[in-house]
Amino acid sequence: MAKYDYDLFVIGAGSGGVRAARLAAMSGAKVAIAEEDRVGGTCVIRGCVPKKFMVYASEFSHHFKTSKGYGWVVETPRFDWPVFLAEKDKEIARLSGIYVRNLQNAGAELAHGKARLIDAHTVEIDKVGTRSADKILVSTGGRPWMPKDLPGAEFAISSNEAFHLPELPKRIVIAGGGYIAGEFAVRFNGLGVETTLVHRGPNVLRGFDDDIRSHLAEEMEKRGITVVLGTHHTAIEKTATGLVSRFSDGHERESDVVMFAVGREPYVEGLGLEKAGVKLTDKGAVAVDEYSRTNVENIWAVGDVTDRINLTPVAIREGHAFADTVFYDRPTSFDHEMVASAVFSQPPIGSVGLSEADARKQCGKVDIYLARLKPMKYAFTGGDERALLKLVVECATETVVGCHVVGPDAQEILQMAAIAMKMGVTKTQWDATCAVHPTLSEELVTMREKYVPLGLGQVA
Ligand SMILES: Cc1cc2nc3c(=O)[nH]c(=O)nc-3n(C[C@H](O)[C@H](O)[C@H](O)COP(=O)(O)OP(=O)(O)OC[C@H]3O[C@@H](n4cnc5c(N)ncnc54)[C@H](O)[C@@H]3O)c2cc1C
Repeated sequence: MAKYDYDLFVIGAGSGGVRAARLAAMSGAKVAIAEEDRVGGTCVIRGCVPKKFMVYASEFSHHFKTSKGYGWVVETPRFDWPVFLAEKDKEIARLSGIYVRNLQNAGAELAHGKARLIDAHTVEIDKVGTRSADKILVSTGGRPWMPKDLPGAEFAISSNEAFHLPELPKRIVIAGGGYIAGEFAVRFNGLGVETTLVHRGPNVLRGFDDDIRSHLAEEMEKRGITVVLGTHHTAIEKTATGLVSRFSDGHERESDVVMFAVGREPYVEGLGLEKAGVKLTDKGAVAVDEYSRTNVENIWAVGDVTDRINLTPVAIREGHAFADTVFYDRPTSFDHEMVASAVFSQPPIGSVGLSEADARKQCGKVDIYLARLKPMKYAFTGGDERALLKLVVECATETVVGCHVVGPDAQEILQMAAIAMKMGVTKTQWDATCAVHPTLSEELVTMREKYVPLGLGQVA
């Protein structure tokens, strides 16, 4: 008789957990996966997927305006939020169903309920019972961090609720300076909501290249978003006409909705990790080695709960590497270098490799190639949107160590650039690539002049 109920028990059916469970089950292992909410996790249910649909919805307002310059006569368009919500939810239900079927087809058992560890080999699942497993994978993701001590915090929503607002607000205040806050700001703005973005730091998008950060803040303001930097909420008060946000610099602003997107935290609450002796990092994430193994020999963790790079493809690759290592006898560690990322702002951002500031710290001398231009689409429509393309090149080796684009299709452009950069492309090899014309991306392979910022020798 088998010693345990399962070879593998996975806690959390999001991007990382589903990939790992499916592959492990396909190897012939007996696998179960617990999910307390809907199968698919943050990405499918309350992250990348619904947000991309909302991006598409909000972009139309901009397209309607631009189309006039091309001769289209557009009567006053009207956006129907409930119709959008219903269609979005239908598609999300379809995708979640595909995840369930994929798990079932692979032979993994699904347990609906919150799971917690009782010890290193035993899991208790609400309304299901107790199960034992030889190996356990924790893939419980992350969740929004909310400032619970803020007076009036109970009136604020997180990104989770923003996808289900019963009606589209007329005014919204969004607190946060990361990509989630920035993306929601441009989306609500595009849907016609008077939008204020408030961030305690000196600029939006911490961690991105400084030119990209400033460029996006300017573009957001051009589109009518009020960007307030260097201040933070001290209270939220409910009045007869809305919610009044009070800020540390003394000013206040009334809105219908206040949303916090001020960070996410690994979701380990109530997981019983301490009962199994699993150690956390000082930031509260599950501590793992390069094979995603915790300090407990039979327990692994992948995805946002480990707080390495919190992106869907990374969680998937970590889950895949875990299955390869443990169930296919192919020790594999996912390489977290040169992971490209996108911000689905308007205009969007694509970025891979080092920012200029990080490159100067890590590589010493670097050359910068930079272009700012009006995308062709706006050539005669009067739009004042500008694109920005930037390359960071390590002088000693001529290697392209950073590539950053703000502009139409930036995310699609960067996926391709990331391939070359992962292969260690040099600027000479990069320049040998012939341009595709007329495109925005051709600027990337035609930038020859090194950029010298004003004040560093260049004459204006
Ligand atoms: C608004 C938003 C936009 C995003 N946009 C992007 C994007 O454009 N591109 C990108 O790459 N990434 C994006 N992300 C990040 C991406 O969603 C995450 O990196 C990814 O989902 C992480 O996958 P995971 O498997 O680690 O966790 P998750 O997908 O969060 O899955 C964890 C699952 O575990 C379940 N769970 C937790 N605890 C338990 C328990 N005790 N018992 C049972 N089940 C449990 C949860 O319900 C959840 O379903 C976005 C995130 C947000 C919030």
